[in-house]
Amino acid sequence: MTQQKRKFNFNPGPAAMPLEVLEQAQAQFVDYQGSGIALMEMSHRSRLVEDLTEETQQLLLDLLELPSDYQVLFMGGGASAQFALLPANFVQPHQTANYVLTGSFAEKAFKEAAYLGRTHAAASSKAQGWRHIPAIAADDLTPDAAYVHITLNNTIEGSRYLEVPEVGDVPLVADATSEILSRRLDMKRFSMIYAGAQKNLGPAGVTVAILRSEWLENASQAIPEIWRYSTFAANRSLYNTPPVHSIYMMNLVLKWTQQLGSVDQLEKQNAHKAKLLYDVIDASEDFYRGIIDTEYRSHMNVTWRMKSEDLEKRFIQDAANNGFEGLAGHRSVGGLRASAYNAVPVEACQALAEFMIDFARKNG
Ligand SMILES: *Cc1c(COP(=O)(O)O)cnc(C)c1O
Repeated sequence: MTQQKRKFNFNPGPAAMPLEVLEQAQAQFVDYQGSGIALMEMSHRSRLVEDLTEETQQLLLDLLELPSDYQVLFMGGGASAQFALLPANFVQPHQTANYVLTGSFAEKAFKEAAYLGRTHAAASSKAQGWRHIPAIAADDLTPDAAYVHITLNNTIEGSRYLEVPEVGDVPLVADATSEILSRRLDMKRFSMIYAGAQKNLGPAGVTVAILRSEWLENASQAIPEIWRYSTFAANRSLYNTPPVHSIYMMNLVLKWTQQLGSVDQLEKQNAHKAKLLYDVIDASEDFYRGIIDTEYRSHMNVTWRMKSEDLEKRFIQDAANNGFEGLAGHRSVGGLRASAYNAVPVEACQALAEFMIDFARKNG
């Protein structure tokens, strides 16, 4: 299938993959690296799979500019499993897990933690309809904080942190699912970063958890082995059968990312893509209305509303007829959302911007 026949894919996750990566995987699908069998038929204890896993871990560290005292783990259960695994591993009975609530995924993480220990909402923008990212002051945190959890980019609402917040000596943990590798941040500020792969890293099925080795030493040994980060670290993510095919696809995506240049290059491109859409929203004289305060607008998930739900429905229908996929807002918030992750090309955003201008002219 040619590039022209492919849709403009703005799906929020699973999301667009680079066409080159799909074609590469297709070419290797039946016979993996001349082995005579497909990768998904191969033992996860084989040399080829071990090499693949190790190379992918190193690629991630390199791209995130993290030193080798971080461990990259490949796990299952999506980012949602991390919502529970994080407190299960790291909240001791005398501690409190601190959360910053900036959207519905942050809230879900917070709720899961409450099953496992004491929790505290250090800051929240819920009362303001999640329109901004609240600041965290030192006295917002409990003195016995096990960690502070933030959601770097709020996929459903369309907001993001401008920079990594300052939390003193308390370990900082980020859900980076819809944000990882989309811009340059000092990732060394985090004790742990996790991300479901299906937004910026590849297909669904694998979740990346990256932990500072020193912090990992504090993890609980009193939970089942399969839930422990230390089990995955000690066995280099091959304790049980990992999602090998998803790791392979991520490997290709990371190499594609590397070939584009640096994360800086992607950051520039993503800013440009987002600006194309926000400019149309802002110039539309309220035909399109951005949901998030300008300063905190996400470059990955561009969200907006229109005058009526009828008009929004018509927009989505018309867009679909013109080859645009995945523009409906999350069912919990409605409206519109264009997710323009790393793999979404500039041309797709250009085409959407033109479509939006045209739609406003015809229906305004
Ligand atoms: C998509 C998403 C999740 C949920 O991921 P699953 O892999 O489906 O569990 C969690 N957090 C954020 C920020 C997300 O974007």
